[in-house]
Amino acid sequence: MDNNTPQKETIIDEVIDKAFQELLDDYLKTKHRKRVEIITKAFNFANQAHKGIKRRSGEPYIMHPIAVAKIVCCEIGLGSTSICAALLHDVVEDTDYTVEDIENLFGPKIAQIVDGLTKISGGIFGDRASEQAENFKKLLLTMSSDIRVILIKIADRLHNMRTLGSMLPNKQYKIAGETLYIYAPLANRLGLYKIKTELENLSFRYEHPEEYEEIEAKLVATADERERVFQEFTSPIRVQLDKMGLKYRILARVKSIYSIWNKMQTKHVPFEEIYDLLAVRIIFDPKDQEEELNDCFDIYVSISKIYKPHPDRLRDWVSHPKANGYQALHVTLMANNGQWIEVQIRSERMNDVAEQGFAAHWKYKEGAGGEDEGELEKWLKTIKEILEDPQPDAMDFLDTIKLNLFASEIFVFTPKGELKTLPQNATALDFAFSLHTDIGSHCIGAKVNHKLVPLSHKLQSGDQVEILTSKSQRVQPQWEIFATTAKARAKIATILRKERKTNQRDGEELLTDFLKKEEIKLEPSVIDKLCKMHNFKNEEELLVAIGNKTIVLDENEKSELKEKQSGNWKKLLSFSFGNNKDKKTEVNAETPVEKEKINTKQILKLTEDNLQKKYIMAECCHPIPGDDVLGYIDENDRVIIHKRQCPIAAKLKSSYGNRIVATEWDTHKALSFLVYIYIKGIDSVGLLNEVTQVISRQMNVNIRKLNIETEDGIFEGKIQLWVHDVEDVKSICTNLRRIENIKTVNRVES
Ligand code: MN
Repeated sequence: MDNNTPQKETIIDEVIDKAFQELLDDYLKTKHRKRVEIITKAFNFANQAHKGIKRRSGEPYIMHPIAVAKIVCCEIGLGSTSICAALLHDVVEDTDYTVEDIENLFGPKIAQIVDGLTKISGGIFGDRASEQAENFKKLLLTMSSDIRVILIKIADRLHNMRTLGSMLPNKQYKIAGETLYIYAPLANRLGLYKIKTELENLSFRYEHPEEYEEIEAKLVATADERERVFQEFTSPIRVQLDKMGLKYRILARVKSIYSIWNKMQTKHVPFEEIYDLLAVRIIFDPKDQEEELNDCFDIYVSISKIYKPHPDRLRDWVSHPKANGYQALHVTLMANNGQWIEVQIRSERMNDVAEQGFAAHWKYKEGAGGEDEGELEKWLKTIKEILEDPQPDAMDFLDTIKLNLFASEIFVFTPKGELKTLPQNATALDFAFSLHTDIGSHCIGAKVNHKLVPLSHKLQSGDQVEILTSKSQRVQPQWEIFATTAKARAKIATILRKERKTNQRDGEELLTDFLKKEEIKLEPSVIDKLCKMHNFKNEEELLVAIGNKTIVLDENEKSELKEKQSGNWKKLLSFSFGNNKDKKTEVNAETPVEKEKINTKQILKLTEDNLQKKYIMAECCHPIPGDDVLGYIDENDRVIIHKRQCPIAAKLKSSYGNRIVATEWDTHKALSFLVYIYIKGIDSVGLLNEVTQVISRQMNVNIRKLNIETEDGIFEGKIQLWVHDVEDVKSICTNLRRIENIKTVNRVES
């Protein structure tokens, strides 16, 4: 129970404001555009959305997004778009706000990133996270249309790891494992070495607390000795670098606890036998940016005069950067005590790239005004290319992680957020069968990301797929065409075969009964006649058709068989509507119009009489009584009625404002006008019948034309109707929407 006093609340607000102010200060120190306003807006929105919610640690929830935004800004080096997305990253998942809300307030880019972040969290991190880890890793890589989603996700995870102490131990263990398995390799792959190392160390600390402490204690115990070695080793180097007149700093790099442990495990050696605990890093500021490569080699040459270099251990990533952008010269030198020490030589720029990945790149671009979209876009593209096509020489940093890109697979979610793997090109129908044969065989349609699609719809990584089923649905023969997985195809074939057998048996029975009743003898000639009559190749096809009621044996068959008539019979279904309606009056644009000067200041009354005789309904937008319309007086003083939202009317309004006249309807359902209604839904037996019934039940409304197309179980069509006014259209649409399986009903312009 929360019983915050007003004072307490003020203190909380102060803490939050201070944290946000720090974020802004850090942001303003970067070279990014100073887009303080939108960042402040994102903060205020998130703060208000998470208000009153606390993290397990007792901290206000908003402190987490602020911290994530800070990592995104300071440790990954991204700009305002990413900072805003980081501030908003938990809003859609944890509050009632939607991605649409975010889009309305912050635009499509930020909304898209937040959407990506929401999609890849939630369900996946449920109880089956570790089972799903491999899939999840692939998913992250394949669906990363915007790599910032992954970068912010990494920042989110880093902050969660930093604050993992307040979680329950069993959760700690799980999250730590996931981090080591998913996030550290990803960070590594994106060139975020510093974050990768921190993630590894934090995970290791929670997974193996005792080993962690042991190694840590040993590092502390040997720190002085290392410091002594470092000073002794670097002092002649400093003398040399000073002589060269370089601006530089030298750092001692101690192997991370996790790497030490890893080496102890893989090489089966005790701590005491790890000799590369200490590395030395020389970071310099080139006098001339163009000389930085040469400077690296000059430094190498001068220090290898002091210490003997290991002949096999020169790594030149200066002239051949790693695929993720890493640049440095690594040499291994023998210290005076006989110990090999690795020295990494890099410029400040190279160092930034190494720590922050490619995000640091554009920072050094001439005249780059911060997170300039173009430059960022380029960088994001490079990262994507790396992810999609790891170069052979990039493999060394992939080391143990063999992440190939599973171009042959896609990853989709169930409505509950469970992740499913399917082969590329899999359809909604494949997905249905992958869930369960029962779901597959009764599915009538699917919703992909909440939109209705046919069963043949090809799925894409990251899609959320919901299957719609109906008990009365049965496997359709054309399903064999749009199922792509072996599993679905085999199931469909089996079901169809079974059904065929049943139908054939039923058909045989029906035929026997029919012939018995009509007192016709069953002989081969009878079968032949029936086959010929219905265009079937053989008896089996005929029996199946009778069995599944495609053919109903009736008078036609009787007379054919009895009277020995020849010729083909065809079942014809035709729809024809009111071709000679007498009451309808089509308003024709070519009707001669009485000339009359119209005063544009008055309101034009639109009556049945003048609509028929004087005014013209525009062909572009087909207005009808009740629509919001305006009149346009053309050069010949004719009045043309347009819908107000008609684009042509808008153009006329802007160019010929003085020829526009306001209008008012005064009609009394005496004239009919043509309207178009678009319908879409799931195809089912009797649907067309229902549609026509709804329309014919409506008084004084007539169908002029009905066009329906069915594809893969989804039907789509247009109805042309004669109506009197908007009222008629509204009630027709309402009634059509009531029909089950009709999902969309709209009036359209044409
Ligand atoms: Mn979060």
